[in-house]
This record gives sequence, C-alpha cells and structure tokens, in this order.
Amino acid sequence: MQWAARIEDLRKDYVLKSETVHALRGVSFDVPRGDYVAIMGPSGSGKSTLLNLLGCLDRPTSGRLLLGDDDVAQLDDDSLSHIRASRIGFIFQSYNLIPQLTVLENIEVPLYYQGRITRDDKRRCEELATMVGLGDRLQHRPAQLSGGQQQRVAIARSLINDPYFLLADEATGNLDTVTTEEILSIFERLNQEGRTIIMVTHEDEVAAVAKRTIRLRDGHIQSDERQR
Ligand code: ADP
Ligand code: MG
Repeated sequence: MQWAARIEDLRKDYVLKSETVHALRGVSFDVPRGDYVAIMGPSGSGKSTLLNLLGCLDRPTSGRLLLGDDDVAQLDDDSLSHIRASRIGFIFQSYNLIPQLTVLENIEVPLYYQGRITRDDKRRCEELATMVGLGDRLQHRPAQLSGGQQQRVAIARSLINDPYFLLADEATGNLDTVTTEEILSIFERLNQEGRTIIMVTHEDEVAAVAKRTIRLRDGHIQSDERQR
C-alpha cells in the first residue's frame, strides 16, 4: 500500500433547517505514505470538516475516501469506529487527556477498544513515553504536567496503534514558541521514520516545517504545493 489516503471529489454538506452548508465542494488529493501535510485556510474554509472525514469521525456526503484499501464512505458505523480506534492517531489543540489517569494509562487508552492489554502493550506504552521524553514521568497525572508535556503524552497515545497517519488539529495552538518547536521536532522525527502526518494550522511558521501545504478556501482546494 503506497497511499496513506486517497480522496476523490469529496463533498460534505451540512443540512440545516433553513439552509444547506456546502462545507467541502469537491476536494481531491492523494497522501502518499510518509507525507507531511499542512492544511491551511481561513476560518470556515472546511479544514476541520476535512480532518474529521480523514479521521472517520464523520461521513462524506459524496465522493471517495480511501484509507489503505478501505473506502471509508462505504463502511457501516461499526467498521468506521473500528478504523478510527485502531488506525487513526489524533492530536488535538486541547490535548484531550483523561485527568484521572497517569501518563502511562493515558497512552494505553486506545488499546481499551481492542480488548485485553498485554505485557507487550505495557512495554510499548513505556517505550513511547520515553520516545517523547517522558520516561521519568510515567506515574504523573495531566495536571502535574506542563502543556508541552501533556501534548507529548497525546502524541505517544496517538502512536500506540501504529496508525495510518497522525491527524493534528492546531496541535501547537496553545503552546509557546519554544514548546511549539519541541513538538514540531518530534513530528519531524516521526515523519523521518516514515510516519504520515496531516496537520491543520493557521501559523505560517508551523506550516513551513511540513513537506506540503494544502490551502482551502470556501470548501475548495485553492493551492496544493510542495515546499522547496
Ligand atoms: P474551518 O475548520 O476551516 O474553520 P469548518 O470545517 O469547521 O471550517 O467549517 C466549514 C463550514 O461548515 C463553515 O461554514 C461551518 O459553519 C460549517 N459547519 C461546520 N460544522 C458544521 C456542522 N456540524 N453543522 C453545520 N454546519 C457546520
Ligand atoms: Mg476548524
């Protein structure tokens, strides 16, 4: 499988009582494995809608969305949530950690959907925590961590199921410049190891580290350029 995702004429309408919002008006692009894509565009241009579709949080109105060999648009809800839980890594602006759980337990969360957690899984959680620089914080809870450290936990959690890709929605939006650079350097390393990353950002400096920038406007792709 050479593609992490292939998108063909993807459309998403939100049907409201008084009107229909055409959030995506026919968007096509391929994401080769190992790509690193920044999605930019003004507020309301369809960025989150696109990321939600890629993340199987929602279904397109029409068009095709291939993740690996699966056409997500054709799958039933159960298959969709299975793919979401097992094959997609999400990183959010607000980290979305569970406050009562330790660092290690938070990283384990996506495994709950798979059933039993093995010793091997536990070892992998520790390895991931160490990889993001939290090897000495395994028993801390989110409130005992800085924002940057919490986002590192979220990154480790997103990797536990070896996902098709990492989807990041304004992942550095709440972080200061130095911490943003630290998080971006983790992304950089993951991408160099072959991870596919798709991130929404409105910051040019953040988008600049990606290999490619897709700009949306009014539900269309305005430009799709590879960095020099
Ligand atoms: P962005 O993330 O680029 O700011 P969105 O994808 O959130 O844009 O939104 C695109 C358009 O779709 C906007 O006009 C927004 O108001 C509309 N929209 C988004 N989500 C919904 C929804 N759940 N119901 C109705 N309209 C929505
Ligand atoms: Mg948005």
